[in-house]
Amino acid sequence: MKQHIGDECIPAVKVGEEVTIGQCIGMPAPGSFAVPVHSSISGRVTDIKPVQLPTGVTSRAVFITSDRKRTFHESIRPRQDVNISASSVMGIIRDAGVVGLGGEGLPAIAKLNRAKKLKVNTLLVNCLQSEPYAACDYLRIGEYADYIIMGAVAMAGACGVKVINILISKEHKYEITALRSAMERSFSKYSGYAFNFVYMRQRFPQGYYRLVARALYGVNLSEKDTLEEKCHAVMFNCSTIYACWEAIADGMPLVSRVISISTENGIKHNVIAPIGTPVSELLDTVNGISSTSKRIIWGNCLTGIELSDPDNTPVIKTTSGICVITRREILRNPCISCGRCTDSCPMTLEPAILYSLLKRGETQKAEYFNVTRCMSCGACSYVCPSNLDLTETIASYAASKKRGTSYAYRYGHDIADIGSVSLLEGYTEDDKSPEVHDKNAINLPFEGGKLI
Ligand code: SF4
Ligand code: SF4
Repeated sequence: MKQHIGDECIPAVKVGEEVTIGQCIGMPAPGSFAVPVHSSISGRVTDIKPVQLPTGVTSRAVFITSDRKRTFHESIRPRQDVNISASSVMGIIRDAGVVGLGGEGLPAIAKLNRAKKLKVNTLLVNCLQSEPYAACDYLRIGEYADYIIMGAVAMAGACGVKVINILISKEHKYEITALRSAMERSFSKYSGYAFNFVYMRQRFPQGYYRLVARALYGVNLSEKDTLEEKCHAVMFNCSTIYACWEAIADGMPLVSRVISISTENGIKHNVIAPIGTPVSELLDTVNGISSTSKRIIWGNCLTGIELSDPDNTPVIKTTSGICVITRREILRNPCISCGRCTDSCPMTLEPAILYSLLKRGETQKAEYFNVTRCMSCGACSYVCPSNLDLTETIASYAASKKRGTSYAYRYGHDIADIGSVSLLEGYTEDDKSPEVHDKNAINLPFEGGKLI
């Protein structure tokens, strides 16, 4: 019931009820900051009880036992006419429960609203997945580039921008070709939108929004700054854009996602998994992976966190990877002042100094040295020859300061500052119907036109 940044949903089903794929099973409470949750399988609700995620978040979960029939809810129908208004696009994205699939987990509708409110002029399509072994975004691009192109147009139309920049590294030639071909195929379906490829370095963690801001706009964002406000751009992960178009064109809410499963031997699989699948069940489907006596990482290898109970830990909307690695004793040695952690830190921090200050309890000094800028990327720990738990120490303190609570180390990026952005902002009662055509809204010119 809580798979994104924001509030927990209220279960909309009861124990014993039959559910189908795409049926809403969790509704946001009135006035809360949340988007709905939908069933990813058909079957019977067997329990509703709290679960704890590896991030430390506890929320109620609806347990569903599959009937193995994959019956879809009656509302899941392809849309005959995708030439709909901007407010309809936003209503569909909100009701489909789409959240940032790159790990951030901010409801897509909140970002769209913020972009519209701040009058951004560019939509950035983030295709910069750079964590080792993570490839779920590349699968979406390679297989479903048309959805990403059309989704980008729809979302640009929804927040009123005309320039769409695709951020990708030149090494991904296959994906670039797929996107170019999709543009050519969609040629007759949109006009007035300028698509550009922006080539960026294939370097972890280049896709992080603060590094994108620095690389593209020369702007150093503070923890509270947003791309929308400081750079007049809004950025969505390409898989998020795919999910938005799936909701618009196929009427399918966010019920599944691609997950990269990897091991230290490099066995890589991209699987399309129903959201809510227990991690152990997911691993059982992958040949060559034995999870017994291994460490299982919920997330990707550098930014994920270890989970202890794979049978009772589900994949959620933001789970982009599962890593299985050998359990070994980690010998920690004293810092040898080699400077590698400093060289590797994308936020230009001094991890060795921050680590030593935090271990001594000198938190004020650590704050003076900008500890809160840490984005939990894991690069410092990865390069440290002394195997010091730099990321765990620094990132957990940074996260606790941002949340104002004591908070265990969590994977992924900063806690997004959702500020005063409302999910319902800009809506009238009429707009709640996805099919309502708002005369004042920007209509998506899907008919005719040429590719710029
Ligand atoms: S985890 Fe934090 S301190 Fe370490 S390299 Fe990443 S941003 Fe820098
Ligand atoms: S990488 Fe490790 S050993 Fe080297 S300076 Fe940083 S903390 Fe010290």
